[in-house]
Amino acid sequence: MRVLYIHAEHFSWEVKDPALDIKDEPTPGRAENALVVFVTVERGDAADEDFLRQVARDVVDVARRVKASSIVIYPYAHLSNELARPYTAREVVNRLYEVVRSEFGGDVHKAPFGYYKAFELKCLGHPLSELSRTFKPEQARQGKREEERRDFYVVLTPAGEEYDPAKFDYGGYEDLRILVEKEVFKKELGGGAEPRYLEYLRKFGFEWEPMSDVGHMRYAPEATVMMELVEDYAYMAAKSLGIPVFKIRGTNMFKLAESAIETHAKLFGERLYVVESDTDLILRYAACFQQFAMAKDWVISYRHLPFGMLEIADSYRHEQPGETVLLFRLRRFYMPDLHIFTRDLPEAVNVTYKLHEVIFREIGKLGRTYVSLYNVTEDFYKSHRQYLVELARREGKPILVRVLPGQKYYWVLNVEFHIIDELGRPREVATFQIDVGNAQRFGIKYVDENNQTRYPVIIHTAILGSVERYLYAVFDTMAIAEKEGKTPRLPTWLSPVQVRIIPITKDNLKYAVEVADKLEAEGIRVDIDDRDETLSKRVREAETAWVPYICVVGAKEAGEGTLSVRERGGGQYKMTPAELVEKIKEEVRGYPSRPLYLPRFLSQRPSRY
Ligand SMILES: [Zn+2]
Repeated sequence: MRVLYIHAEHFSWEVKDPALDIKDEPTPGRAENALVVFVTVERGDAADEDFLRQVARDVVDVARRVKASSIVIYPYAHLSNELARPYTAREVVNRLYEVVRSEFGGDVHKAPFGYYKAFELKCLGHPLSELSRTFKPEQARQGKREEERRDFYVVLTPAGEEYDPAKFDYGGYEDLRILVEKEVFKKELGGGAEPRYLEYLRKFGFEWEPMSDVGHMRYAPEATVMMELVEDYAYMAAKSLGIPVFKIRGTNMFKLAESAIETHAKLFGERLYVVESDTDLILRYAACFQQFAMAKDWVISYRHLPFGMLEIADSYRHEQPGETVLLFRLRRFYMPDLHIFTRDLPEAVNVTYKLHEVIFREIGKLGRTYVSLYNVTEDFYKSHRQYLVELARREGKPILVRVLPGQKYYWVLNVEFHIIDELGRPREVATFQIDVGNAQRFGIKYVDENNQTRYPVIIHTAILGSVERYLYAVFDTMAIAEKEGKTPRLPTWLSPVQVRIIPITKDNLKYAVEVADKLEAEGIRVDIDDRDETLSKRVREAETAWVPYICVVGAKEAGEGTLSVRERGGGQYKMTPAELVEKIKEEVRGYPSRPLYLPRFLSQRPSRY
C-alpha cells in the first residue's frame, strides 16, 4: 500500500464520472485542518485486520503530530503501477477508514471509491506537511476469529439428551467418535498410506489437468460417462422428493459490483475465486447465484410452492494448493445443486424431513451410511431443538450439533453428511441448508393467499453431494470391499462399459457384432475387443477394466446363439443374449442410461498411458 500524507488548511472534493463498476455512493465532502491520506492499494494488499491497524496507527500518529483536527481517507490510484483489483482495493480502503475512525478521536471522512473526482487543497507547507509511506501486509495470519472460539458442540441423542462431546460414551458409535475427534478436537485423522481409490481413478481416467490451475481435473471418456450418469441421477433423486423440480442452466461468473452477489459471497467465506476482467467477477461456488437471479424474474404464487430448481453447476472454490485432493477437494467441480423454494420456515422444515430421508436412502444404496454434523445458529437451536431431536431419531443414532452464536451466515441450519472413508477419515458428501436471508437479498418474491408479497425460505441441497464426491464415495466403497478380500465391482448402471464381447478368432467377429447390436439396441453399453491379442490377454484386460460382463464368443456360441459369460465377482455361465439383456435391465432399473462414450471396437482406441 502506498500512502501520501498532505496536511491541508482545507480540502474538498466533488464527484465526476464513475471510473469503475465497483464503486461507493457518490458523495462530495469538505474538511478543515485535515490530514489528507491519499491511498493506493497495491497487488498483495488485503483487508487484513493486523495490517490495517498498522497503517491506521501511522495515520493517526501523523495526524496528532501535525495537530490535524480531521482525517480524510482519499482513494487515489496514482501512487503505484502495481494496483490491486478494484474489488479488493475498495474493501481495503473501506476497512482502513473504519479502523482509522475507531482509533482517532476527531472527524474522519472518506472520499468515494470508483469515480473520477475533482479536489481542492491548500497545503500548509510546514516540514511535516508532506510525507509518503509504503506499507507491506504482514505475513503473519490472524488467529482464529473471536466468534469461532465461542462456538460450542453438543452430542444430541434421539431421546433428546445433550452431552458434552468430551464426556459422551461412544460405545457403538464409532463413526460419531471419528467425526467428533476431527470436528471438535481438531485431530488429523488417517492418511499416511496412499488411498486405494487413486489407483481406481487412473483406471477410469480421472486425473489432474497439469496445464490448468491447481485443483482442476480432466475426465477421460470412461470418467465422463460416469460423471454424466451421476448428473442424470441427481435430477432423478431430486424429482423423487415429490415436488416439482425445474432443471436449468446458467453462467459461472457473476459481478461483484452486484450487491446481492457481494453480500452472499462474503457470507460464504474466504475461498472465493476471483477473475479479472473489465469488471471484477467471481466464479460461483455453487448454483445459488444463477438460480436466485433467475427466480427473482419469475412470477411466483403460493400455489407453486414448494418447488425446486436444479442445475449441474460447474463450481469453483479457491482451495489452498496443498489441500487439493483428487475427486474430493477441488478448485473446480460439478455440483448438482438443488434449491427448494418454500413459503416459510415451517414449510421448509417439513420439506427437509423428506430430503433427509432421500439423502440417507441414496447413500444406503451404495451400502454406506452417513454420520451427521448439524451447524445451527443459536436462535435456531433454541427454537428448533425438538426438530433436531426428531432428525436424530430418524437417523437412529446421536448427532453432532455445532451451535454458532450470532447470525453471520446466510443459513440458520447447515447440515454436513459425512462418510467415514477407507482410511478412517470423515468426508463430507451430501448437505442441506435452510436459508432465511437470500430471497430478500436477491428480490425473490411470491404472492401469498392474502395477496401479500412475501419472501420464500430457501433450502440449498446437494442430495448426492457434488458429482465428484459421490463418485469418491463409490470408489471408497470399492476400496473397502477390496480390503475385505472381495472383488470390487462398480454398480452396473455406473460401469463405463457394461458388456465386453471377445471373439475368439476373427471368424467370430460377425456374431460378436450381431450380439453387440442387440445389446446396444436395449441401451446397454457394449464393446468388442477385436484386437490381435491372445484371448487370455484380452480377458485379463477386461477384468482389469472392471467390465461386469465379459462374453467370450467362438464357433460354438455362434452356432448355439449363446454367450459364455464371466460375471465380475459372479462366476462363469452360459446364457442367451436375450437373457443377458434381461439380467442387466433388472440391475439398472431406476437408474439413468447413457450410450458408450468410446468407439465400439477396441482396435480403434489409442492407448492412454
Ligand atoms: Zn445454494
